[in-house]
Amino acid sequence: MAAPAMAAMNSVSLLRGPLSLRALHFIRISNPVPRNPLFRAPFHFRRVSSSVSAISDEEAAARAAAVNADSGAPTIFDKIISKEIPSTIVYEDEAVLAFRDISPQAPVHVLVIPKLRDGLTELGKAEKRHEEILGRLLYAAKIVAEKEGIIDGFRVVVNSGPSACQSVYHLHLHVLGGRQMKWPPG
Ligand code: 5GP
Repeated sequence: MAAPAMAAMNSVSLLRGPLSLRALHFIRISNPVPRNPLFRAPFHFRRVSSSVSAISDEEAAARAAAVNADSGAPTIFDKIISKEIPSTIVYEDEAVLAFRDISPQAPVHVLVIPKLRDGLTELGKAEKRHEEILGRLLYAAKIVAEKEGIIDGFRVVVNSGPSACQSVYHLHLHVLGGRQMKWPPG
């Protein structure tokens, strides 16, 4: 087989299988588009490569965040609880705080967190003793949905661990709504 045809085939075969996203990312970095202003990559390619890059960044950030997950170090949410960092609070009681996500993924995107982390870095670390606070968080999600006018349809998401792209290791529920949700999720 001619060398260019062989190279093309190798690239295509990299796109198959579970490592396809990483392979795409690799291809983008290792074969940069020539810096010729007259050259414009086809729109489809540009869109795919930027979304793949965003996915790779998200996954890398999640893996990096997981390294210190159990160190007991405070997270950004501790500063939000202490009001050291401002946030838009939607609901608050003695155990729970709900505030708008800084990078909303829907018209309504609120995070519901326990004020006391108490070992709940992620849902996967929950123990029997956490049953009460877990129930309170879920009920607070419902109150938030009501307050935000999305009680007819909303989604509650918990990312637990690096494979779920969790980036802050203080348990939190994402309450999302205000648009049609799709299934399956990414
Ligand atoms: P995770 O990726 O861990 O499931 O979700 C963490 C969420 O926290 C993300 O949606 C992110 O946008 C949000 N977030 C991170 N830092 C801040 C911040 O400083 N303020 C607010 N309001 N949200 C934040």
